[in-house]
Amino acid sequence: MSTKKVRVRFAPSPTGGLHLGGVRTVLYNYLFAKQNNGDFIVRIEDTDQTRFVAGAEEYIFKCLEWCGLTPDESPLHGGSYGPYRQSERKENYRKYAEELVEKGFAYYAFDTAEELEAKRKEIANFQYSQHTRSSMKNSLTLSAAAVETLLNNHTPHVIRIKMPENEHISFTDMIRGEVSFNSSQVDDKVLLKADGMPTYHLAVVVDDHLMQISHAFRGEEWLPSAPVHILLWQYLFGLENMPQWAHLPLILKPDGNGKLSKRDGDRLGFPVFAMDWTDPKTNETTTGFKEKGFLPEAFVNMLAMLGWNDGTDKEIFPLQELVEKFSLDRVHKGGAKFDYEKAKWFNHEWIKKLPTANLQWQVAGLLKAGGIQVSDEHALEKVIAITKERCTFLNDFTEQASFFFKRPAIIDIDAVRPKWNEQKNLFFTELIRTYRLTQFWQAADLEKDFKEIAAVNTIKPGELMLPLRIMLVGGKFGPGVFEIAEILGKEETVSRIEHVLSLLEH
Ligand code: GLU
Repeated sequence: MSTKKVRVRFAPSPTGGLHLGGVRTVLYNYLFAKQNNGDFIVRIEDTDQTRFVAGAEEYIFKCLEWCGLTPDESPLHGGSYGPYRQSERKENYRKYAEELVEKGFAYYAFDTAEELEAKRKEIANFQYSQHTRSSMKNSLTLSAAAVETLLNNHTPHVIRIKMPENEHISFTDMIRGEVSFNSSQVDDKVLLKADGMPTYHLAVVVDDHLMQISHAFRGEEWLPSAPVHILLWQYLFGLENMPQWAHLPLILKPDGNGKLSKRDGDRLGFPVFAMDWTDPKTNETTTGFKEKGFLPEAFVNMLAMLGWNDGTDKEIFPLQELVEKFSLDRVHKGGAKFDYEKAKWFNHEWIKKLPTANLQWQVAGLLKAGGIQVSDEHALEKVIAITKERCTFLNDFTEQASFFFKRPAIIDIDAVRPKWNEQKNLFFTELIRTYRLTQFWQAADLEKDFKEIAAVNTIKPGELMLPLRIMLVGGKFGPGVFEIAEILGKEETVSRIEHVLSLLEH
């Protein structure tokens, strides 16, 4: 590795929800930076004004915050290479585009939208390239004097790269190894638009240079653009200063057939965005992993494993351990199939693994949203400890924990009534009496009393367990029924049993 300070960047265009593939790009950048005592930069690539979406940038930072992947430099966090929004760096770019024209690596193109449209009609799959540029209106076909007049008259124009003929362009990708392209197959991309804004191609190269980016990791979908970027580096700054590239494998649909899209999530019923995203135009909200009930620890861990492993079977990694173990050598070249069941498994593992204290405020928040204010922190801790095994999503705690703090609103009485009889009624009446008198309110004691009374009344305890559960919980779920009673306490337990007995009388 070079001795340059490691500086990596995530460079999103703020156009909508943050796809999990984007978060994985953030993660791999972050891990690499932290492992090498480097800097992780977020640069907002917002030069395409037509794609501006209100709130999208703010949303991206919220997602990163939720994931715990804090940038060292960004429009939000500051830094000495700012501004970190390309729209605020507009004046930087023109001079590089002009420099390319002067050196003969780029040219002015004056074709109007109508002229281009006419060409597209005339030639199927028309591309502005070395094969067509000689029949277009540009500084290569017009005389120098004509070009000067057009420029002096402020005629709208763009600057395009002049792709060389039949040149071999290659670079070493940190994941893919040697990658090469033939320059004749690449079109003359626009570098500077008529509104004076750079396109992504020019801006990415200029800013990676000015921000002294040492390594550029991005999704595989950018690989076809790499030859343009390599040439721009060569023409403007010299290849030796170019960042090292790594194109990360795609995240594929569960069946492996193409890139995972938001639509796949909608179709198959799982989130694709990190957090809820509301499209400001349609007002339509797409559910995110956070709101679905994923822990950030699980989400990040799951993403790390989509395309990487540490060479063993180990799958559960806290972020700090990922920082230590991550290596680009072990990132796969091929796409990684997204498996929602596996994502759920990660979440369940993390719910079980996290110390109860870390879950406490989140569960308290969920209960509060459901109208339950928990005042007994100690009880909540116990509730989490005995219910977390049953929760795949954080939101499952709403069902699993609410009844501890609030009497169930719905009681599944029909699950009890068909087999209810006077003998059972007597049993529960006696149970209430015993429970009222008992000095020991521990699950084991409560179970012992329960079984003794059942034996005296010659009823199988198995037949009494379900009614007791329905009395305390309202339905057929939850952890061990005597553990529930222990947490509910004497008064509440007895009162819930009495309440259901009275319902059964009618
Ligand atoms: N602005 C590009 C995007 O939206 C970034 C590509 C890159 O990292 O070079 O993904």
